[in-house]
Amino acid sequence: MRKLFSLLALISLVMFACKEKNTAVQIDGNKMVLDCGTEIISIEDLSTEMAISLFSGVLPEEQKFEYMPEGKTPASISIFLVKTGGKTYMIDAGFGNAIKENKIDAQSISSIFITHMHGDHISGLLQNDSVVFSVPVYVAKIENDYWHSEEAQSAELQKIVASAYGKNYKTFNFSDSIVSGIIAINAAGHTPGHTAFLIGKGKQKLLIAGDFLHAAALQFPHPTESANFDMDKDKASKVRIALMEMAEKNDWFIAGMHIPSPGWGKVKSNGEGGFIFSTP
Ligand SMILES: [Zn+2]
Repeated sequence: MRKLFSLLALISLVMFACKEKNTAVQIDGNKMVLDCGTEIISIEDLSTEMAISLFSGVLPEEQKFEYMPEGKTPASISIFLVKTGGKTYMIDAGFGNAIKENKIDAQSISSIFITHMHGDHISGLLQNDSVVFSVPVYVAKIENDYWHSEEAQSAELQKIVASAYGKNYKTFNFSDSIVSGIIAINAAGHTPGHTAFLIGKGKQKLLIAGDFLHAAALQFPHPTESANFDMDKDKASKVRIALMEMAEKNDWFIAGMHIPSPGWGKVKSNGEGGFIFSTP
């Protein structure tokens, strides 16, 4: 956690590298434009639901139903495109629906950054075990090392992605500025190398926080509830809170791959340990 906060000092140093007039972040549907010419497009790969049985923490069952009255809540699987410095970067690849449905032009992508190596984030990199993109794919080194260790169970897909991309399969370290305007932030907990990406070259930022939560309706107000998908539930919960505190303190937008599309908004503490999420 200390690493996460020492990163703030680094960010504040580079934060004002680009000076622009004090305008508001421009948001139009699934498009967000930050100062200093950074554009983000949110693409829904799949519209889905999260079931109440996936979540556990301190809340009694009946209280969880207050947030998920039908025993489930809407969710998405999202991919984000970041356009900056004349290039387009893709964050995660979903299951591959968006690519098959031509919502993404594979030729327009310069590099791909992966939040973590679960199937709903990397399956879109492959079609019949072959590469869909002929550009570099970046994964946190810790994440890569885990899926190639003996500790990992059912790591077949992860290994196929790594070998299919070959030389184009690359790793980064937390706190790396992968390209100008995209910083990798340690958000480990959901998986051992789960990464959030801080987007923006100016004062305005979007924190793409991957799978920091899965059921927006439940986990914004009750961030101590974790999903079965969280490999370390306790750590995931602490990181969930830390990321939201960071976003609130710095007035950043925050996005998640499973928040209903377009999946971004601002968070504000509710004074009771939870957060209020407001969409633009
Ligand atoms: Zn996921």
